[in-house]
Amino acid sequence: MKALVYQGPGNKEWVEKEKPGIQKPTDVIVKITKTTICGTDLHILKGDVPAVTEGRTLGHEGVGIVEEVGSAVANFKPGDAVLISCVTSCGKCANCKRGLYAHCEDGGWILGHLIDGTQAEYVRIPHGDNSLYPIPEGADEEALVMLSDIMPTGFEIGVQYGHVKPGDTIAIVGAGPVGMSVLLTAQFYSPGKIVMIDMDPARLALARQFGATDTIQVGAEDAVARIMEMTDGKGVDVAIEAVGVPATFDTCQKIVAAGGNIANVGVHGTPVELHIEELWIKNINISMGLVNTNTTPMLLKTLGNGKVDPSKLVTHRFKLDEMMEAYEIFGNAAREKAMKVILSA
Ligand code: NAD
Ligand code: ZN
Ligand code: ZN
Repeated sequence: MKALVYQGPGNKEWVEKEKPGIQKPTDVIVKITKTTICGTDLHILKGDVPAVTEGRTLGHEGVGIVEEVGSAVANFKPGDAVLISCVTSCGKCANCKRGLYAHCEDGGWILGHLIDGTQAEYVRIPHGDNSLYPIPEGADEEALVMLSDIMPTGFEIGVQYGHVKPGDTIAIVGAGPVGMSVLLTAQFYSPGKIVMIDMDPARLALARQFGATDTIQVGAEDAVARIMEMTDGKGVDVAIEAVGVPATFDTCQKIVAAGGNIANVGVHGTPVELHIEELWIKNINISMGLVNTNTTPMLLKTLGNGKVDPSKLVTHRFKLDEMMEAYEIFGNAAREKAMKVILSA
């Protein structure tokens, strides 16, 4: 089969590779029908994630058709259409029982990281019963691919950890696919104002189309001053960081109102300054973490009832064997005005 493999920092190849087989009775082999590229894949490719070794097939998002199931798999059979979760989890260990699928004692965030991923013709999914979801009849596959990672990430770590409530004023820093997923899922709770902050005017224009009530262009405007103007000097109820750099976490600390919440979604490669001396007097709650994908069943229902359409994040479409071209476009997202690219078998 064909697969996109990591070949050390800065290098990747679309190569012929052995098709995966069942290794454990709980495994499921899935034939990929649609996959996508994530900012995390770009981090891995740069060499920022040393645990990823040469030869690893990248990718952790996708949908497909069950090809083969292990003897202990109860929920799926060959031919079933499935959504792949970016986190694989047994559903039975102490962490899984608490909903901490990202910390499953026999899984977690491993797909395209510690085991081969979804940017290939076939993928082996450990603990298939708990790591795959049946695709509802008639569901849009492009929308579903957004439910592998970015939509649960935005919802769980941005919206739920941020305790977004009806009427709240919220600010999202970072209008990438993850920030946009925060924007789409925050609207389940009818916040009063949603301010999107980014430096890219094209992404800010898209954010307005997707429901942002206000936008702030970093570089052209002073984000902190503008937020204070908009909120009569109080700040926002919820500040959500969806970039992963010290400057944006700092912005969140400055714009959050007394009694408010900071939800940090971005992955930080370097330490950030925590201004406890300013935050404690404002009674601020700070949350952060890895996506658990334990809200996927609920998000699947929102697709069905038309509450949200994440397929609008898709800007480019390729065939699976155009993987290298797709990386070229996604790797130059700002220049190419790319948000999510879809690769179809
Ligand atoms: P992205 O790089 O596509 O988007 C980031 C956005 O931030 C871009 O639009 C960019 O213009 C903007 N930006 C950069 N610097 C800025 C600044 N100083 N001020 C304002 N805006 C700025 O990334 P993405 O794929 O949307 O992911 C966002 C973050 O979420 C990343 O750090 C990613 O690793 C992380 N992530 C976390 C989880 C999790 O489990 N918590 C899961 C997936 C992704
Ligand atoms: Zn991802
Ligand atoms: Zn587990």
